Amino acid sequence: MRIGAIEAGGTKFVCGIGNEEGIIEDSVSFPTERPEETLDRVIAYFEDKQIEAMGIGSFGPIDLDPASPTYGYVTTTPKPGWANYDFLGKLKQSFPVPYGWDTDVNAAAFGEAKWGAAQGLDSCVYYTIGTGVGVGIYAEGRLVHGLVHPEGGHVPVRRHPEDTFQGICPFHGDCLEGMAAGPALEARWKVKGHELPEGHEAWEMEAYYIAGAVTGAILMLSPKKVILGGGVMQQAQLFGLIRDQVKYNLNGYVSSEVLLNHLDSYIVPPGLGNRAGLIGALALGAESLRQR
Ligand code: ADP
Ligand code: ZN
Repeated sequence: MRIGAIEAGGTKFVCGIGNEEGIIEDSVSFPTERPEETLDRVIAYFEDKQIEAMGIGSFGPIDLDPASPTYGYVTTTPKPGWANYDFLGKLKQSFPVPYGWDTDVNAAAFGEAKWGAAQGLDSCVYYTIGTGVGVGIYAEGRLVHGLVHPEGGHVPVRRHPEDTFQGICPFHGDCLEGMAAGPALEARWKVKGHELPEGHEAWEMEAYYIAGAVTGAILMLSPKKVILGGGVMQQAQLFGLIRDQVKYNLNGYVSSEVLLNHLDSYIVPPGLGNRAGLIGALALGAESLRQR
């Protein structure tokens, strides 16, 4: 089986083909431009690939309700041209195959559950901490959509006692994304994230915010794995700081051996590395074939 996969990000698109074992055979990447130009390149890539299904993990917000007249649309994004754009419909015109369609972070969570760090588990939470913050939720063996789809990057967070930064989320100011996404780090410390030295106080503060949100997710969803990806998590020292802070926050309350003593194997980087998004999209495509 040949399955198409699209990791549709706000800054770049990655297209690939692979199989139902999670193996990517070929991929290309290009910057996200206006939808017409971008989709032309997507269609040109898949044109001669004879795909039998397609999976798409998309930036959003997007419409995931199959009963909605705007199912498959990107909805309210400020990205030029993309608001109210019929992304899925446009692809269906060129490739009439079964589709898997979900958020970029749900795709990554699904890929991790199928072939990555949460393989064999029926739940996980996937965070990306990059240009924005997003959260994908896999629970009881299925992706969570709810009313629209979870927007866990924008949860309110408790302010770090030494932090006076206002936050940069245009909607909420000091939500998780406003305080802890890559651009927030840069705005607070006036240097790029990767230029901040390992021992800088920025990392303790960063970990504090991420751990606050992760603690909430653990208490709310009781996931069997928490996976943290995205550019900012390239700072490997964050993992130890986040685990320590989560342990402090939980304070022994939840009686689970893994939460009490094994956070090192519970809060982890993506097993699929920087391919989590693309392989996740492949997993969505494979699932659409299985469901048919
Ligand atoms: P996107 O979220 O656009 O898909 P990334 O996940 O790569 O892309 O996130 C990009 C953000 O991550 C930028 O704000 C960048 O400054 C930050 N970033 C990338 N690499 C690092 C690093 N090694 N250390 C800290 N921050 C980083
Ligand atoms: Zn926000």
